Amino acid sequence: MNMLVVQKYGGTSVGSAERIKAVAQRIAQTASDRSVVVVVSAMGKTTDGLVKLANEISPNPCRREMDMLLSTGEQVTIALMSMALQELGVPAISLTGAQVGIVTEAEHSRARILHIQTERIEEHLQLGEVVVVAGFQGISQSRHQEITTLGRGGSDTSAVALAAALQAERCEIYTDVPGILTTDPRIVPEAQLMPEITCDEMLELASLGAKVLHPRAVEIARNYGMPLVVLSSWSDEPGTRVVSAIPKRRALQDLELTKPVDAVEYDTNQAAISMLHLPDSPGVAAKLFSGIAVQNIDVDLIIQSIHESKTNDIAFTVGKDTLKQAAAVADAILPTLGKNSDPSLGEPEVKTEERPIAKVSLVGAGMIGRPRVAAKMFETLAVAGVNIVMISTSEVKVSCVVDAEDCEKAVNSLCQAFEVDVADISSSDTSRSVTTDSEEVPPPVRAVALDIKQARLAVRHIPDRPGMAAQIFGLLAQQNISVDMIIQSQRCHSMDGVLTRDIAFTVSQPEGETAYQTLVNAAVEFGWGEVVLENGIAKVSVVGSGMIAHPGVAAQMFEALATSQVNILMIATSEIKISCVVEEKDGVKALQAIHKAFGLSGNDVIKVPA
Ligand code: ADP
Ligand code: ASP
Ligand code: MG
Repeated sequence: MNMLVVQKYGGTSVGSAERIKAVAQRIAQTASDRSVVVVVSAMGKTTDGLVKLANEISPNPCRREMDMLLSTGEQVTIALMSMALQELGVPAISLTGAQVGIVTEAEHSRARILHIQTERIEEHLQLGEVVVVAGFQGISQSRHQEITTLGRGGSDTSAVALAAALQAERCEIYTDVPGILTTDPRIVPEAQLMPEITCDEMLELASLGAKVLHPRAVEIARNYGMPLVVLSSWSDEPGTRVVSAIPKRRALQDLELTKPVDAVEYDTNQAAISMLHLPDSPGVAAKLFSGIAVQNIDVDLIIQSIHESKTNDIAFTVGKDTLKQAAAVADAILPTLGKNSDPSLGEPEVKTEERPIAKVSLVGAGMIGRPRVAAKMFETLAVAGVNIVMISTSEVKVSCVVDAEDCEKAVNSLCQAFEVDVADISSSDTSRSVTTDSEEVPPPVRAVALDIKQARLAVRHIPDRPGMAAQIFGLLAQQNISVDMIIQSQRCHSMDGVLTRDIAFTVSQPEGETAYQTLVNAAVEFGWGEVVLENGIAKVSVVGSGMIAHPGVAAQMFEALATSQVNILMIATSEIKISCVVEEKDGVKALQAIHKAFGLSGNDVIKVPA
């Protein structure tokens, strides 16, 4: 058989009869010397329209019926696309997810693909036909063979999964922009095209709000080593390659259920500093971290959260050998920050953690998308009696800072729980950042993203003992609620003789209310304090694998925000990302400021077709 390519065309690309005909021309060209499987989305904004229609009938429709409804969008496109190809003299056939045998879990509205039956597609390809498959939909394994959908934006995932199952040469995602850009061109028209990006970077970006690719599509490409390109439906430009290291061989069974955790890592070369009671005004984080950057000190984790009293705490970790130097910077900066307006809020202070600490991490892909992973990590540590000092989460890494004396216990129990091996990174140099074939040094910041559909939740006065994070995030994981930016306060309050801390985190807005109700009920049961839900926030993030070996990236981001008078409400970092929560009204301004500050703007302006 010819070389096989899977091509996916998104909603805008097939938004009208004219566009379907134009896309058919493109497919016809490829089909002249290759086998082609085409995956399509619903036309234009059809899916949004169907959601709206459903809501006119029911405010909270049953998920099974929603899948029945939404899956019709793609069915229209496959038939029209197949007709357009036939009109050009190209033999073609359309197939629904069920006809192909895209078998998924029975989870309506967010089903993961279990496996794909390839026989029928292969038969048609053998006959020289182009096979046009409906994206976004599948069929459950259960006796009743229910129609399922994969989650909004899921056609990308259908395409990459099909490419992996059919062992295609590559998967091409055609869309309404020239490829993956340094940010969303609808907000920053000066966004530039990136010739390539690593899967890890793209996973972070996608889960931080860049909806150009469905994160699960990137995860499959990474896990199966499927070459993935994102390119324009209207031009012949080469687009963006999404590159990854060559993965271990994986079975095609349980395609999207493969283990998300590859290894446990630990680093005992860490020390922590906290700054408490800082004034809540723009520029504080910028001042601190630019002072540290001037000394060329590499900062690893940074977390900041605001308190009920309207003062901030910032905690961060550095290499042990730079602790004294970093603490000196923090001490020197303290008097320049000004006093809190209300003396009862306490004076700003610096605390260096006397006890040695260690960072223990799970490394893999798709961990934000699978909230059970972090919950299981916290639970495993709780069972082992390990107290968690700091938490950092991301799609490719979940880390906990713990007491150094607990490190071995933590690592062993995590390796056992996740059935993976361990890697010690304490002594490794900074050159371990990922580089791709064509690049010597990846840029510290590759791209930036904005997510305005975020909510912040805080639970106050949780007793400071092992198992509290496990309890909270276990409850949320049961509801399949993904959590990002988990921050435990560094400050302890004494409540009736018990030391307590606050925990704050972000979730996506539609899940905010469910998360809130779940925690309010639990707070009563476990005697926690107040639960606070806030919707008026936005999250801005920078992503780049080069930031690992590059001190000062955080400082540059905070300075850009300070210069734009944007107040930072929360900070959380992971290895290759830095995220800040700001007020929702500041989101766009913040994104534009950091895009510019990292020199990501180009001279060309990207126009997105309507
Ligand atoms: P499709 O219908 O083709 O799947 P989507 O609307 O899902 O298209 O994704 C493409 C859109 O993603 C672009 O029009 C753009 O507005 C948005 N986008 C957000 N972030 C980025 C980014 N970093 N690069 C490119 N596009 C982005
Ligand atoms: N049509 C679906 C949606 O709008 C799937 C997709 O376009 O990827 O979410
Ligand atoms: Mg899409």
